[in-house]
Amino acid sequence: MIPSYDPTNTEAGLKLLENLTTNADTIQQHVLHQILSQNYGTEYLKSFLDKESDKNQESFKNKVPVVDYEDMKPFIQRIADGDSSHILSSQPIIELLTSSGTSGGKPKLMPSTAEELDRKTFFYNMLVPVMNKFVNGLDEGKGMYLLFVKPEIKTLSGLKARPVLTSYYKSQQFKNRPFNKYNVITSPNETILCEDSKQSMYCQLLCGLVQRSHVLRLGAIFASAFLRAVKFLENHYTQLCADIRTGTVASWITDSSCRESVLSILNGPNSDLADEVEALCSAKSWEGILRRIWPKTKYIEVIVTGSMAQYIPTLDFYSGGLPLVSVMYASSECFFGININPLCKPSDVSYTLLPNMAYFEFLPVDEKSHEKIHSGSYNLKDDQGRIVDLVNVETGRYYELVITTFAGLYRYRVGDILKVTGFHNKAPQFSFVERRNVVLSIDTDKTSEEDLMKAVAQAKPSSFLLTEYTSYADTSSIPGHYVLFWELRPRHKDDPPKLDEKVMEDCCSEVEDCLDYVYRRCRNKDKSIGPLEIRVVSFGTFDSLMDFSISQGSSVNQYKTPRCVKSGGALQILDSRVIGRFFSKREPQWEPLGLDS
Ligand code: AMP
Repeated sequence: MIPSYDPTNTEAGLKLLENLTTNADTIQQHVLHQILSQNYGTEYLKSFLDKESDKNQESFKNKVPVVDYEDMKPFIQRIADGDSSHILSSQPIIELLTSSGTSGGKPKLMPSTAEELDRKTFFYNMLVPVMNKFVNGLDEGKGMYLLFVKPEIKTLSGLKARPVLTSYYKSQQFKNRPFNKYNVITSPNETILCEDSKQSMYCQLLCGLVQRSHVLRLGAIFASAFLRAVKFLENHYTQLCADIRTGTVASWITDSSCRESVLSILNGPNSDLADEVEALCSAKSWEGILRRIWPKTKYIEVIVTGSMAQYIPTLDFYSGGLPLVSVMYASSECFFGININPLCKPSDVSYTLLPNMAYFEFLPVDEKSHEKIHSGSYNLKDDQGRIVDLVNVETGRYYELVITTFAGLYRYRVGDILKVTGFHNKAPQFSFVERRNVVLSIDTDKTSEEDLMKAVAQAKPSSFLLTEYTSYADTSSIPGHYVLFWELRPRHKDDPPKLDEKVMEDCCSEVEDCLDYVYRRCRNKDKSIGPLEIRVVSFGTFDSLMDFSISQGSSVNQYKTPRCVKSGGALQILDSRVIGRFFSKREPQWEPLGLDS
């Protein structure tokens, strides 16, 4: 099922891709057959497929329910607690992958097996021939890819729990990746594997600057992380240049393997390079800076689809319009698909799901179910009968992705809404529409309407009535931050509210305290989200917002205050009526994950 081929051979890679997409239907059936044969005896599947004759697609579809994380959680928790019986998978679960999606305020945990690492490696390798097809000469230079790991933790039973990319970068598969020249990146493994993200960032940027004349591509996984690196460069270029000038590494880089690996790349003092980089970085405007520092760069590889699309204008500003390449669509549960037309505009990005990664099904999302999902009145049973297979989706329609993996998720709703944009051979291509229920996201945080409502309800000041609120993800500065627009009314008079600065700042902090684990980690530990802001707006602002929506075609009967606004007219209305702005003055509490039941 995991084809082996030489990833340095572009022609062979592209042929394999043609093969996979042409035979998507048969491969999908084969994948399901294999998953069922492998995992039929597990406790979970046995409870639905009780007879040997049930080991087929039809019984699977009729008897195994479509589920979400809450349904799987008790099984996964037992694995975390050390139950090594075949609960979900017949292969040993070697680790749990911590997703950025949360449940009960904590990251969801996804089971993973040794074989999954090979599957991910296969997926990564497929990206190489695709990029080589579109951009010539990539093997004549290096990529400055800023890649990071996060500290891993152990569950009560000693099982590792860590993010999927941490797992991959620590694997032998990554460390021993075939070093065709395409795969050469400026960051030594030691700098990627350094768990102190500040030291890791500094060292990776230093290596990227020293090797600037060889760099042909820049990148990170998500646009937010890449822009954080640009900001870091802005704040630290003087020190970075001092290190290049003297051929040493700043004394606060205490990770010894990091130091050594960087020193060997610095290879002595280089004052000419230091002067050049310093002159570029001290320019008044940083517009187009990336092109100037790394002049041979052909593109920036970062995900700019979904919530990351908000970063496109800032990336364009710093890069001077370099192509932005979103190559993959993946998650902790499974790696899904690749963009086989990587130089297309960000708005045209579609991902072709690789049919051998998992068994894929699709829950149609029409206007009605979409509205129901948003209002919380959605009943899955109404839709389960309408679920379709990978090759039977229809162009132009919206679907929620449902996966069955080799590692033990069965008919599992990922929570992503996708739109079919077309087909490559028999394999459909999808644009990423949205994460179900997520209204705010700056980095890997995913705040739902419900999370926001609870936090606001908890934090609102007692001396006022909070008559309306909405929110906005402000990414005009780095890091971005959440903005809440509040319309407040004094409890007794109709005068404009007298806003006490301290009280309002406390409200900002309290909202943050109530948001989930991933938000608090981004804000407290990763510093990838800035202090939350409340903008108090004058009375009647939300009436004006409603008038505006109606003027744009909303129906008066159906109008609901949007709990999140994007840039544009609605934001202008809100911003023009702000009577007070307040920021959280402290970071929310956050502690590394405890994995108790
Ligand atoms: P995680 O489980 O933390 O790895 O997050 C996976 C989720 O990130 C996916 O289910 C998507 O919602 C989102 N995601 C991953 N790749 C992309 C992409 N290329 N475009 C948009 N969203 C993505």
